[in-house]
Amino acid sequence: MINELDEYLKDVQAADLASLETSITSNVLDPLENPISFNIKLRKNPAFGTKSRIDLERETRRVELTAELKPRALMNDCMFCDPKKCANFAPETGLEKQYIQNKAITFSNWYASGIIHGIIVYNYTTHITNPIDLSHEEWVDGLSLVRKIGKLTKKKYVSLHNNYGLKAAASLEHFHGQYHCEDEPLAMTKRTMKNADKGYWKSWVKALNNMNLVLDFDQKTKTVFFVEWSPAFGKVELVIMNLENPSFVNLSDDEIDAVAKYMHRSVRIIREISDQFNVLNFSAALDDNYCNHFRIIPRAPMTISLKAWQGYLEFMGETVPHIDPNKLADAARDMS
Ligand SMILES: [Zn+2]
Repeated sequence: MINELDEYLKDVQAADLASLETSITSNVLDPLENPISFNIKLRKNPAFGTKSRIDLERETRRVELTAELKPRALMNDCMFCDPKKCANFAPETGLEKQYIQNKAITFSNWYASGIIHGIIVYNYTTHITNPIDLSHEEWVDGLSLVRKIGKLTKKKYVSLHNNYGLKAAASLEHFHGQYHCEDEPLAMTKRTMKNADKGYWKSWVKALNNMNLVLDFDQKTKTVFFVEWSPAFGKVELVIMNLENPSFVNLSDDEIDAVAKYMHRSVRIIREISDQFNVLNFSAALDDNYCNHFRIIPRAPMTISLKAWQGYLEFMGETVPHIDPNKLADAARDMS
């Protein structure tokens, strides 16, 4: 348990995780009619309205449906290494064409799916294909540059996300993020805003701290870094949460610095699990009762070829983790 976090949350009632968890035993007969049983923990996650079936033995099953993958010819003309090849913000957006801060650059998504749908390249001066190679300062520059564009657009809802690897839907390998500046939150953020206000998140974090799932707490900015108890999207989730700020675009320099510090750590931890991941940003507006947060979610690694981890159950809001959240938290602590 992190004592500074416990002290900060001393007046908060911890979420009752025991009431959200049940254990079941599933019994099966193998082809020779030998009984096999599996112990599965069912954990509800009220913020997302999802459920995790923590099933540690499941990944040992036989996987037949894989396929060989042939990469295309290596890219030697990466557009993200050359600002002249990138799209620009159009005059209608009220923005300049491109913005640079040290090695970070931002410009419009070529195929924008919203009025302001931007790309952030955290370091465009080097062809960075592995986010482990980004420095703390490069994370800070990228995050602050997007915050700056968000402020310029005066949009209330600004959120910054990353896709890494082709199973996470990244099209270009040069590591980058995408952001939306809109009049309303993205749909999943809106859903959690109904279920989870600031008080809810603090109570959740307090319970997770009691469970030893909190990895670090930045006392100055009240930014917390934890392993999710009931992953809503993937096998595991790392979460970076600003307990006193609902909105990415309104993060202070110190909060950006804390987020960058934990982003830098989280990509190292997640790369131990997979070389494919997404970063989701749940960001509300300044006057919303909410906690801005990022969820770092591994997708199935390329070592298991085309096999995916997300199937029908995940689409139905039920994840099936084979990684114990507490084991991940212990391993992550050993890494730092
Ligand atoms: Zn490049």
